[in-house]
Amino acid sequence: MDAAANLRQINANIQQACANSNRSPNEITIIGVTKYVTIERAEEAVNAGVRHLGENRLEGLREKQTRLQDRAAWHFIGTLQSKKVKDVITKVDAIHSLDRMSLAKEINKRAEKPADCFVQVNVGGEETKHGLKPDETLAFIKDLKNLENVRIAGLMTMAPYTDDEQRLRRFFREMVSLRDTVKAEQLPHAPCPYLSMGMSNDYQIAIEEGATHIRIGSKLVGA
Ligand SMILES: *Cc1c(COP(=O)(O)O)cnc(C)c1O
Repeated sequence: MDAAANLRQINANIQQACANSNRSPNEITIIGVTKYVTIERAEEAVNAGVRHLGENRLEGLREKQTRLQDRAAWHFIGTLQSKKVKDVITKVDAIHSLDRMSLAKEINKRAEKPADCFVQVNVGGEETKHGLKPDETLAFIKDLKNLENVRIAGLMTMAPYTDDEQRLRRFFREMVSLRDTVKAEQLPHAPCPYLSMGMSNDYQIAIEEGATHIRIGSKLVGA
């Protein structure tokens, strides 16, 4: 597993997916998910040119930041317990897992400036996954309007793990449509231009359907 070679392959696949869908690769941000791997592996990815890293636990974030602090933007992609917000909030550039009002309130209280958040949507309706139901999402976002330190940068989802391409496309399209609905509201606190969706198994399809942020772990740094 060579992170530089993996990144070249991923970039080639991004180019292809963008060509297939009339998009520009400049619209796509690769988040290297380093939760499974050592600092050395994460550093390899950064040396290869990855500029965004994602971690799903505070401990992992702290560990990776000791060495790589200023060399990457940091994304918190995992379930976030409210009591950990105060430790996470000053360390990350975006939180991808906003899924409840109590968490939004805690972020609002602890952040010193508006924090970029992605609202997590459970588009497949799987019980094991976190996130709001699609039909609750707009109302939830509207309810955040008085939390001046919560800024909705986009929506995030983890699609069900499946090789059924048509099914995946339906989920991703539903997310695009939901993002467009939120965006059309022109809410000052929720510009919502972004869609964080697509992982190692499905990122090309996610890009073809409209992802702006792909979160890649195993196919980039290994599992
Ligand atoms: C682990 C994880 C990923 C990366 O998964 P891979 O399939 O290894 O690319 C992406 N997003 C979230 C939220 C994750 O927890």
